Amino acid sequence: MKLTKQSEDFPAWYQEVIHHAKLAEHSPVKGCMIMLPNGYSIWELLRDQLDVQIKAHGAKNVYFPMFIPEEYLRREKEHVEGFSPELAVVTIGGGKTLSEPLVVRPTSETIIYDAMSRWIQSHRDLPMRLNQWANVVRWELRPRLFLRTTEFLWQEGHTAHATAREAKEQVSEITSLYKRFSEEVLAIPVVTGRKSDSEKFAGAVYSESIEGLMQDGKALQMGTVHYLGTNFAKPFRVKYSSEEGPKRHVHQTSWGVSTRLIGALIMVHGDDSGLRLPPRVAPIQAVVLPIFKKGKDTSELTAKAKQIAESLDHLGVRVEIDDSTEMSPGAKFYHWERQGVPVRLELGQKELEGDTVSVALRVPIEGNKKMQISTSLLGKEIPKILNRIQEEMFAQAAASLATRHHFPTTKDEFREQIESRAGFLQVPWCGTSTCEADIKSETKATSRNLPFEPLQQPELGVCIWCGRPAQAIANFSLAY
Ligand SMILES: [Zn+2]
Repeated sequence: MKLTKQSEDFPAWYQEVIHHAKLAEHSPVKGCMIMLPNGYSIWELLRDQLDVQIKAHGAKNVYFPMFIPEEYLRREKEHVEGFSPELAVVTIGGGKTLSEPLVVRPTSETIIYDAMSRWIQSHRDLPMRLNQWANVVRWELRPRLFLRTTEFLWQEGHTAHATAREAKEQVSEITSLYKRFSEEVLAIPVVTGRKSDSEKFAGAVYSESIEGLMQDGKALQMGTVHYLGTNFAKPFRVKYSSEEGPKRHVHQTSWGVSTRLIGALIMVHGDDSGLRLPPRVAPIQAVVLPIFKKGKDTSELTAKAKQIAESLDHLGVRVEIDDSTEMSPGAKFYHWERQGVPVRLELGQKELEGDTVSVALRVPIEGNKKMQISTSLLGKEIPKILNRIQEEMFAQAAASLATRHHFPTTKDEFREQIESRAGFLQVPWCGTSTCEADIKSETKATSRNLPFEPLQQPELGVCIWCGRPAQAIANFSLAY
């Protein structure tokens, strides 16, 4: 069955890619997601690589319970207001009504900072950097696989510092770390910047984000980093004694990325034939396909295919062999293409005689979709090809992002470009919440962030929308 074309119906295409690549399914509970082996192994690959980077940054992994006393959330006013509409609350345990309701964590600032108030006593305990890999629950009214699900998986980093300056430096460092991770591992270019006041995290002083642009021209917030100041340290009494004088509150940060990144991978890299996975997060990087002729002995081809797969496996290539006989070769090609496997090694009678392999690439390099490689050179060439595919995928996504930045100069142009889903609109903006609400109600666009490195640096002048003096350059876009 053919997939719906991206250009015809992007949301339908997205659902079909997930279904055909067997990444995830809806669960019996609305909004929850069952991750299948193909989807979960992508998560494991990106999680493990990010975990190494987070640890190298100095954070230690912890695990906190998923139940949080409801009263904890109420201690920070904006935090509880922001999260209340999405909370799942447990009121009965073991058949008895609980004396105090428990919230299923929507995020863990409160419970972690309660513990930090006991763990942090002196300036010698700082900075404290913790990270946890966990599930969180935020009740979703309009769920979408990987992008918005009631329960999702993520990492949440939480740090405490002696000074505001150090905490703000931490925020910048994590934003850079996320950007690098997205570019190098996921092959997805992102725009970093500060969130507007109405888009920041509930309880933060300010938030930063990495924003990606999907192929339908809508933005996706792929990660956020929050400077919390002392907003949580005060109600949770997280204090340290310095060498000089009385106890002081710590300055804190929190930051996270989630299974949403898999949605980004699908929507940035996929094409009309299905999924395309960057080699660094592809559970299968190469598939070996012996091509059998009807009625012929298959043993020689199978043995050769096994030998090739084994030698690649020894080199650390994630390789699979498909020697099933139920599907025709054409159906197999199609099958592996839809799964997004970067490299397909085809081995027929002709290849066997010439001691070569036909290598088909999911993402062409310099226009080449297929090449013949001598068997003896595979060990050297396949890792190189995988690296080049990774680079090529980033280059394609970066070129696409660059062409979809626009700089409207009038309100009408702004409206038209939003309607045509042009991508990011970089405009001078007043920064007020009322103006942002007005833009949103009229065009559905929101400010994605105030980019640290705008592509053009025009005179600020006046706000593109309301005409008041502009305070910053902002990226507006439709968003997931
Ligand atoms: Zn304005």
